[in-house]
Amino acid sequence: MGIELVYQQLKERITPEYIKLKEPMREHTSFRIGGPADIMVLPDSARQIIDTVEICRKNSYPYYIMGNGTNLLVRDRGYRGVIIKIAANMKGFKVEGERVYGQSGILLSTLSKIIASEGLEGFEYASGIPGTLGGAVAMNAGAYEGEIKDSIEWARVMNPDGDIMTYTNKQLELGYRTSIIQKEDLIVLDCGLKFRRGDREAIEAKIEEYTRLRKAKQPLNMPSAGSIFKRPVGYYAGKLIEDAGLKGARIGDAQVSEVHCGFIVNTGNATADEIIALINYVKKQVKEKFNVELQPEVKVIGEP
Ligand SMILES: Cc1cc2nc3c(=O)[nH]c(=O)nc-3n(C[C@H](O)[C@H](O)[C@H](O)COP(=O)(O)OP(=O)(O)OC[C@H]3O[C@@H](n4cnc5c(N)ncnc54)[C@H](O)[C@@H]3O)c2cc1C
Repeated sequence: MGIELVYQQLKERITPEYIKLKEPMREHTSFRIGGPADIMVLPDSARQIIDTVEICRKNSYPYYIMGNGTNLLVRDRGYRGVIIKIAANMKGFKVEGERVYGQSGILLSTLSKIIASEGLEGFEYASGIPGTLGGAVAMNAGAYEGEIKDSIEWARVMNPDGDIMTYTNKQLELGYRTSIIQKEDLIVLDCGLKFRRGDREAIEAKIEEYTRLRKAKQPLNMPSAGSIFKRPVGYYAGKLIEDAGLKGARIGDAQVSEVHCGFIVNTGNATADEIIALINYVKKQVKEKFNVELQPEVKVIGEP
């Protein structure tokens, strides 16, 4: 019961070009880190997701859902199982008045431009978040004054048994960087969002302002996964790390960013082990100095 059998069964149901063997995960993560996934599937429909999950479960073979890999650290030995990457093959959308429908693979940056061009406001904050819509729902992504929770009306989700259900905003249990998607291993297939009419020029100006702020305050020219830690209640992770004297701290090629201490960057050929060692070092120092427990926001997967 192994990779060959799963591969053969997938080939019977999934478009062959959408199945990749021994796929280097560094090519699919914003950290540019990660060993090979045994198999990667790039589904183009809910049907292909259902089939892939069913084949994995039948063969007791692990699977993991990813979007654009911008909040993901894959270990150096890679992932033993199937990575289901819901991204460019599922990026459909439709705008109807103030309502917007999107498949989970569409990028937030693309969706934010579409929404702005329709003169709809309330999604400006998302223009610089580099993930997919599905990843944003799973994480309840947010920035500046907004988060996904503010505009989502419903999401169609699939559970591990292959049942498809439509969850309302409330049922999604969206909290700070958390949702029922993470808690119950659900897969986001598509969603409905609602915005309000606004002034197109003002909306575009706000997007420009947020872009300017990000460029000034974040190390966007280096591979990272964004904020590496969640914001602890009552503090800012970046400030605590800076006050602990850790700006620029390094382990190998992993470094606490000199631009924004809340980011860990890959300065060249960092390994996942180096990033994890630096996360643990920062956690320990901040705990010792300020008695605050930092919790990683980034998801870590792969063979230890
Ligand atoms: C430079 C930079 C800036 C960032 N700025 C921000 C920011 O301002 N605000 C913010 O919130 N985040 C930020 N991030 C982090 C990241 O972009 C978000 O967490 C984003 O929502 C992750 O989306 P993704 O598609 O890349 O998901 P991935 O990284 O691929 O996956 C993240 C999690 O979502 C799950 N997931 C992905 N797609 C689905 C799906 N279809 N169904 C179910 N689960 C799914 C995965 O299983 C995983 O648990 C930043 C990252 C970078 C690199």
